[in-house]
Order: sequence, then C-alpha cells, then structure tokens
Amino acid sequence: MESGTAQASTEATNGAAADHLEVLNPATGALIATVPVDSPQSVAETVARVRANQPEWEALGIEGRYRWLGKLRDWLLDNSDRVLDTMQLETGKVRADASNEPAYLADLINFYGAKAAKFIGEQSVRPHTPLLAAKKLRIQYRPHPVVGIISPWNFPLILALGDAIPALQAGAAAVIKPSEFTPLGLIEVVEAWKKEIGGPDILDCVQGTGETGGALVDEVDFIQFTGSDRTGRKVMARAAETLTPVSLELGGKDPMIVLSDADLDRAANAAAWGGMMNSGQICMSVERIYVEEPVYDEFVAKLTAEVGKLRQGADDRGFGKDVGAMTSPNQTAIVEDHVDDALASGARALTGGKRVEGPGDYFEPTVLVDVDHSMKVMRDETFGPVVGVMKARDAEEALRLANDSRYGLSGSVFGERERAERVARRVECGAVNVNDVLVNYLASDVPMGGWKESGIGYRHGEPGIKKYCRTESIVITRFGGKREPTWYPYTKGRRGLVGRIAQAFNARDLKRRLGMRG
Ligand code: NAD
Repeated sequence: MESGTAQASTEATNGAAADHLEVLNPATGALIATVPVDSPQSVAETVARVRANQPEWEALGIEGRYRWLGKLRDWLLDNSDRVLDTMQLETGKVRADASNEPAYLADLINFYGAKAAKFIGEQSVRPHTPLLAAKKLRIQYRPHPVVGIISPWNFPLILALGDAIPALQAGAAAVIKPSEFTPLGLIEVVEAWKKEIGGPDILDCVQGTGETGGALVDEVDFIQFTGSDRTGRKVMARAAETLTPVSLELGGKDPMIVLSDADLDRAANAAAWGGMMNSGQICMSVERIYVEEPVYDEFVAKLTAEVGKLRQGADDRGFGKDVGAMTSPNQTAIVEDHVDDALASGARALTGGKRVEGPGDYFEPTVLVDVDHSMKVMRDETFGPVVGVMKARDAEEALRLANDSRYGLSGSVFGERERAERVARRVECGAVNVNDVLVNYLASDVPMGGWKESGIGYRHGEPGIKKYCRTESIVITRFGGKREPTWYPYTKGRRGLVGRIAQAFNARDLKRRLGMRG
C-alpha cells in the first residue's frame, strides 16, 4: 500500500502528537499501511484550496454537478472489487457487509441527482397578503461553501462519501476527515476522483485523530459529524466558537419489539441479522429485544439457534463468512465490559459471551437473557455482536422499556401489520421499521436522524440535502411609485391611511375591517 493511505498508531489513537497513522488489519493485527497526519496548517490549506474552486462548481448547476457525480458512481461500480478489498483489509468486515458500501453510494448519487431540483431548486412563493401583491417572492438555496465531514470507522465510505454526495450535489465543496482507524478506502476513492475521473478540485480528505477533526471544524462553514455522542458534544462546543452550524449523527441503543402475533421465524432471523451484521458495529444495530410473554421462549430458542449457526472469521471474494472482526480494539474492550457486567449481575449467555482468542480482534456473536435495565448492556451503546433479550408482560410494557433510553436513533416492531404499526408509531426514535430491521437506511426517500442524545439534524430525504444550503429569500418589487406609504415622511394622514389599510386586511370580522372596535 502506498504511503498516503493508512491506520492509527498507538500514539495517534491516544491523542498524543504523531506525524503518521498506522493502519492495522483487525482480522490479523498486521500493519498494512502508514498515513501522514495533516497538521492544522495543512487542513487550513486544503480547505482554502477547495474553497477557491467552489464557486465554479456551484455555477455548474444541479445537472452539471450530477454529471460529475455520475462519473463517480460509474467508477464505484466499475471498481467495486478493488474498493471492497481495501475496505476488508482495514475494517475486518466480511465481504457481504463490505459490499453494501459502493452499492449504497451509487444509489444515493442517483437519488439526489434526480431529486435535487425538487428539494433545493429555486422556489416561487405567492405572498400571503394582498398588501404584498406588488412583490414577487423567490427562495434560492445556496450551499455552505465548504462542508467538513468527520466520520467513524464502522462504514468508512457510507458515512464519509455518503454525506459528501448531497453536499456536493448542493454545490458545496467537501473535505472529509475519516476515522484514524479506516482512512484507506476513502483515500483510494478521493485519489480516483482527482486522477482517474479528473473531477473538479472540490473534494478532498485530511487525515488524523481528534486534533485534525478539531482543525477542520475551525475552517469550514458547516460540519456533518457522525460518531459517538461523547465526541459529538466536543464538536458542537468547538463549532460554537465560530458559530458554525452542525448536524450530528450519534450513537444508538436500538430496541426491537416482538409482539405475540409476529411471524417468529422472520422476527428471529431479522434479530440475528440486525444484531450481528457488521459485527453489531452499526449505530442502528438491534441491541435490545423486548418480547411479549406468550412467545418469549419460542422466539429466544429460534434466535439462539440462528445466531449459534453464524460463521465468524475473515473471508474474501468468495463470501464464506457471516460475521467479521471488531474494527477498533477500543470498541472490543467496551463490548467485553458490557457482557462481563451483565454476566456478573445474573444474565446468561445462551450462545457466545466472550472475546475470541487471536490472531485478530473478534467477539463471539452473543445472545444474553435474564438482563434488565440496571445493566450496561441494556443501557449504554454496546456496538458489538451482542443482543440482550427481555420478556415483556404485554405491548405496553415492551414500549415502556423500549422508550426507557437516553438514545432514540431507530427501532423495529414485529407483529401483525396493523397492530405492529400502531406500536411503531409510539417508539421514541427518528426511524422505525415494521417487520424489518435496518432497512430504513436504504429508503433515502425519507429522513433519518436521532431523537434525544442520538443526534441533531437529518440525513436522507429533503432535509438531507437542504441542511447543506442557506436560504436566500429574494423579494422583488414588480411596480411602485417614487415612495411607498410606509416610507418617510411620517405624517398623521399617511400613517392613518396605513393603519386603516392594515386593519382592513388583518381583521377577520366586518366591524373591525370597517375600522370599528368589536
Ligand atoms: P468517535 O466519536 O470516537 O469518532 C468519530 C470521529 O470523530 C473520528 O473521525 C475521530 O477521529 C473524530 N474525533 C475524535 N475526537 C474529535 C474531536 N475532539 N474533534 C473533532 N473530531 C474528533 O466515534 P467512532 O468510535 O469512530 O464511531 C463509533 C460511534 O459512531 C458510535 O457511537 C456509533 O453509534 C456512532 N455512529 C453513528 C451513526 C449515525 O448515523 N447516527 C452511524 C455510525 C456510527
């Protein structure tokens, strides 16, 4: 691997000064690349460079920008295997999990390419009052010139380029700081944008840990952050210093509710996939499951059997495994702590329950029962291949437990469709799936964003591109005399006329319209 691509050295991970990142393969622990760290000065230079090119990019218009992004889509489709190889190396994902990333990005480019004119095209608005009849009202959406994107390690392209795509389609330039653990895939795509696609110089990335992220916050006009709520708070505080707007996509502790009339095979298979996919390292992973009493035993047996069958390890283009490695060693320690805490407090692991002996960084797919909300595993974000299952007396108790969380990212409800939908409407979160899991992320048509401590702002849908724009309202005078009645000079006669006209239009009853009191 060339220099300029890489992963985090111990020093860099710990936040101490380091001039390079060391990127490790989590499936083996081997060093695969080193990447130079960007100093605050180099971050400022990168932002200044793309800022200088942004007006020309914006001037291309929605269609012109989509033409360029379409070339990126074609490159991603043509080079998918190459991108997936890199991503597997730096994340330890199994092939199937890695393969979601280019496909999602290609779809997102098409989605915003087709919808941008509707979402952020110029709007004409009819004045709400006849008093403004002489005015023509327009709204134009102008991008924040440079959008900074700070992303985590669990989906190194989806959560980096996936946020850059609507920003670029809106006319902004974008600078991305990927996670120090997984910079390689993004570097490969950005290099391709510059050298193979020959795209305008309005997309770049900078490398490093929190220090580089902080420097990016200082330089850009809008920050899109995805990561933990702990870091999200720091990013928001730093952005406050320059009054830079932020959108924060933070952690989750997503509940799944299984009602007594659910298709239990589908619910158990969904719980296994929704909890273990990407080794449970998804903000929207199923982490807590509440099952109505009559079907609890049957559901738990089916879930345990399904999870127990999963093949864990490293695979290749042959798609031979189901569950991959833990991408960050820090996260494995958190997962282990949550499971140990639960087991020490009386929980039982029906399958899994411990870290796998090396080489590589793996945690066994785990189903915990006899858990409760005093345990970390049901309260804090675990972000690993672990689900805790609780029996609920009825749907009301399941809902109460599902909503008993400081997080509110997404959730799911399984059951007879209409009943499940009624329950789903009462789950306190930004997106809820009925009889499915995780799938809302592919429905880019509808927004998703965290409630409570899961975030501020939205991705996807109309808000997912509008957030990158500033609105400029243009009020155009179609006709008028030398002066308006509201202008100088203020005289009793002119002000009296203005008052009578205003009253005539504002009153909603005849007496007042005629200037009388009610
Ligand atoms: P993290 O918060 O540790 O790091 C995220 C990014 O922030 C990294 O690039 C990191 O280098 C950078 N960073 C760290 N300190 C910073 C600082 N002071 N200023 C600026 N940037 C800084 O998160 P992580 O461990 O990489 O990712 C896991 C977390 O991300 C989980 O909590 C998960 O739920 C969350 N996540 C949320 C979503 C979502 O859409 N809501 C999606 C994926 C992951």
